Amino acid sequence: MRRALLRVLVVLAALMPFGAAAGEVKLKAVATFSILADLVAQVGGDRVTVTSLVGPDADAHGYSPAPGDARRVAEADLVVVNGLGFEGWLERLIRASGTKAPIVTASTGIKTIPASEDHDHDHGHGHGEGDHPDPHAWQSVANVKTYVANIRDALAKADPDHAADYSARAAAYTEKLGALEGEIRAGLAAIPEGQRRIITTHDSFGYYAAAYGLRFLAPQGISTNSEAGPKDVARIIRQIRRDKVPAVFVESIADPRLMQQIARESGAKVGARLFSDALSGPNGPAPTYLEMMRANLKAFREALS
Ligand SMILES: [Zn+2]
Repeated sequence: MRRALLRVLVVLAALMPFGAAAGEVKLKAVATFSILADLVAQVGGDRVTVTSLVGPDADAHGYSPAPGDARRVAEADLVVVNGLGFEGWLERLIRASGTKAPIVTASTGIKTIPASEDHDHDHGHGHGEGDHPDPHAWQSVANVKTYVANIRDALAKADPDHAADYSARAAAYTEKLGALEGEIRAGLAAIPEGQRRIITTHDSFGYYAAAYGLRFLAPQGISTNSEAGPKDVARIIRQIRRDKVPAVFVESIADPRLMQQIARESGAKVGARLFSDALSGPNGPAPTYLEMMRANLKAFREALS
């Protein structure tokens, strides 16, 4: 008995270094942009390698896929996308890549809001977006819980052996998201109600506004592709003066000059850089989704309190 046990141990000892050296083959996931890549990495842990097509501080709206992107998509085991029309360039890339990987839409199941909800319709200037949903659903933490559940299910399907790991990691991360929601609500509640109005470059905070009760105005449309015209700018400046909007913000992915002009002409102050559609690099203030949401909260509180 003892000898048999010893033999088992010896065999195990012989196998273990081999197993460790060979390593497990990791699942290769490709996400379309940096925020999504972070969510996949949080749920996937060390079982998954994640690459992002659109990198940190980069704008996904007007992205032109690089030659290497088709290869990355072709080699992926899983492609995770936001959906809701955010990645207009994606379909062609998927087709060009010839990938057989499942394409997972992380926003599936969320309650969308229309793209134009935060616009003033009485000025009669649509942005040609019609009834399209606002794609920036990750700006509500509640929606990101749904993203995480979808990512968990997709990873479990692609790699059923480790489904329990993905489930445990998703549950732990969802708890962190719950804590973040509480921080945001408490942080914004400390801002006087009349001060909870801000101006951003493009309409990327519609879900944030709806979830947490800040009012956002934007001179640019829902996509960074559309330029704000002089009429839009004049309207915003009038509105800032009339409503005494305390601060304007420049998003990390946007050209700061428009907001600087608006601030100069309206007397509003320019707040810290906001992260709307992309994380910062690893040494910036927003290298993960959790840190991004905290950096934005801090920017709002500093400018509005
Ligand atoms: Zn955007």
